[in-house]
Amino acid sequence: MLNIILFGPPGAGKGTQSEKLIDKYQLTHIATGDLFRKHMGENTELGQLAKQYINEGNLVPDSLVIKMVEDKINSASDAKGFIFDGFPRTVAQADALDEMLEQRDMPISVMLALEVDDEELKTRIRLRGKTSGRADDQDDAKIDNRIKVYKEETLPVAEHYNKQSKYRGIEGVGSIDDIFGSLCAEIDAINQ
Ligand code: AMP
Repeated sequence: MLNIILFGPPGAGKGTQSEKLIDKYQLTHIATGDLFRKHMGENTELGQLAKQYINEGNLVPDSLVIKMVEDKINSASDAKGFIFDGFPRTVAQADALDEMLEQRDMPISVMLALEVDDEELKTRIRLRGKTSGRADDQDDAKIDNRIKVYKEETLPVAEHYNKQSKYRGIEGVGSIDDIFGSLCAEIDAINQ
């Protein structure tokens, strides 16, 4: 089973590359940001709880995220493998994910980390904000906060998987197809 964490700061291209990887490797996509936006759109209880955090560019509390991911894994019993996109974003989430996957005997295969500098991230997010309708893509202070939160709370997750020898850094600036090629090369190297 191929279980990939697609890692990187906001605006790194995780969503774009996930779509292409899912197509090629027939994986099930678990994108926590998309799941929360769906809950907000449907105005569920979880959506209402998450909204205040998301609109300010802060992280939703771990317990809510972990429960949502576990439900999603449980409902995908026929999955050939997963792409985790935007999750885990804290070391506590990474510990919970590792435990969930160990119990199911399907550990993380690799963490692929898209590396993009801050100025490029901000330019991309502002551009996306023109069409995404996302409150957290529109405002420079919120964008800056998301990048700050990434560095403080999420970057340690890279070290967590580096210690397991699962971290692979990928140059995230270039054409979509070139970046996709680099991701596939890493996957094919471990998935033989
Ligand atoms: P994204 O679409 O991945 O950029 O996520 C949008 C927002 O959803 C983030 O800025 C957080 O507020 C929230 N979110 C998404 N995934 C997580 C997560 N794994 N942990 C905490 N908050 C999350």
